[in-house]
Amino acid sequence: MPGIYLNLIGGEFASGSGVARNINPSDTNDVVGEYAQGAVADVNDAVDAAKGAFPAWSRSTPQQRFDILKKTSDEILARKGELGRLLAREEGKTLTEGIGEVVRAGQIFAFVAGECLRTGGEAIPSVRPGVGVEITREPIGVVGMITPWNFPIAIPAWKIAPALAWGNCVVIKPADLVPGSAWALVDIIQRAGLPRGVLNLVMGRGSVVGEALLKHKDVHAISFTGSVATGRKVAASCIASNPMKKVQLEMGGKNPLVVLDDADLDTAVEVAVNGAFFSTGQRCTASSRLIVQAGIHDRFVKACIERLKAIVVDDALKQGTHIGPVVDQSQLEQDLRYIQIAKEEGGELVFGGELLKRETPGFYLQPALFTETTNSMRISREEVFGPVANIVRVKDYDEALAVANDTEFGLSSGICTTSLKYATHFKRNSEAGMVMVNVPTAGVDYHVPFGGRKGSSYGSREQGTYAREHYTTVKTAYTMA
Ligand code: NAD
Repeated sequence: MPGIYLNLIGGEFASGSGVARNINPSDTNDVVGEYAQGAVADVNDAVDAAKGAFPAWSRSTPQQRFDILKKTSDEILARKGELGRLLAREEGKTLTEGIGEVVRAGQIFAFVAGECLRTGGEAIPSVRPGVGVEITREPIGVVGMITPWNFPIAIPAWKIAPALAWGNCVVIKPADLVPGSAWALVDIIQRAGLPRGVLNLVMGRGSVVGEALLKHKDVHAISFTGSVATGRKVAASCIASNPMKKVQLEMGGKNPLVVLDDADLDTAVEVAVNGAFFSTGQRCTASSRLIVQAGIHDRFVKACIERLKAIVVDDALKQGTHIGPVVDQSQLEQDLRYIQIAKEEGGELVFGGELLKRETPGFYLQPALFTETTNSMRISREEVFGPVANIVRVKDYDEALAVANDTEFGLSSGICTTSLKYATHFKRNSEAGMVMVNVPTAGVDYHVPFGGRKGSSYGSREQGTYAREHYTTVKTAYTMA
């Protein structure tokens, strides 16, 4: 029998207004567990608990914070196999990818633990005689976090760790599809010695728990990752609240990967297939738009098809699976809808796109590759968020760069080339927050900033030392000695 997992409010496990079943997308008969569904009253209790814990936590020592974050990292890493399995079971990414994501969460906590000890500040002379100026960073207060389903442990980790390191209290609402990994993470952090109320978990629906967090006057900042449509609502709500909330949004992408004639073909195919289809294409940084120069186009398409034929789509937990299922029925329907749209727009489906039957009932989709598409088609402009990619043929580098930048998104971009001139020009002129040369657009380091431009992001960067921008406010103090 699967267990029932409760919310964590003020250091106590609390039932909500009901439970929701967490279903394995590789086998819809497999129930991962039953998870509490929070109501508005639970959010109010969680925010009260966070507010009550803030005065003491905001004054806790860097050593205390370091110890808790480091202990959290140690437990995450020690349990990587078990937690990776839970993640793969609830989200559908392969076991290898699931373990990789768990390791990343552990590494994030280790890196951010060090940040607790690297606080610092500035003391500078005033322009006025006899006056000194100090610039320090202080925590924001209570931070609300709303996370998506595609990185069930890494995204909660890269928001919670810096928030705690900088002395904030947290209420997190994970995606309702995948609450298991977030629940396990919060349980680990709590047992690492965190005082009651500093971290609170309220699971449930965005329209209930998420909106209650956005409306609560004692929530001072929001960190959101999810779709553009929800992100817009989140930002509007944060600005409308009184006082206004500081807000950070990480949203969707339609990430271009340029392949130039001078690219190494094997590298380009590996980079494209990995970036477009691994993790079932369900990454905000996925290379869903492949922009390929005419001279290499036909060879590239042929080699991609050969590579895709060797890819095994199956149960995420099975050994030998390269790509797991789509996360749920509604995402599968969205993927199939876009495959149909691309066909109707004149795209040529050269590989995949069909539903697959496996031993267990699940949402299995063969990765789909389209050629003969233009950048004005919907398949080039809208985020599918599945294993679907299309190729736009271009005549030269200038056209490739123009097409790459012709999008309302700006999260990640990439180029495959052996030319230093084009690689350098692309890094400087790509309108994306992250630019990759001969490496996939998806798959990033945990110690450097993450985020995009244009419609993909709003507010300051996440991860690395840059994370402190969102989780601190700057104070400038003047003293006449
Ligand atoms: P989503 O926008 O549907 O949901 C994100 C979160 O918002 C969930 O927890 C959801 O319950 C909550 N929510 C929904 N409606 C809400 C409301 N009215 N008020 C408050 N909260 C609400 O996104 P998703 O389907 O979970 O995730 C996929 C999207 O996330 C894709 O667009 C993907 O590109 C994006 N994403 C972005 C990044 C990034 O860092 N840029 C990373 C991962 C995923």
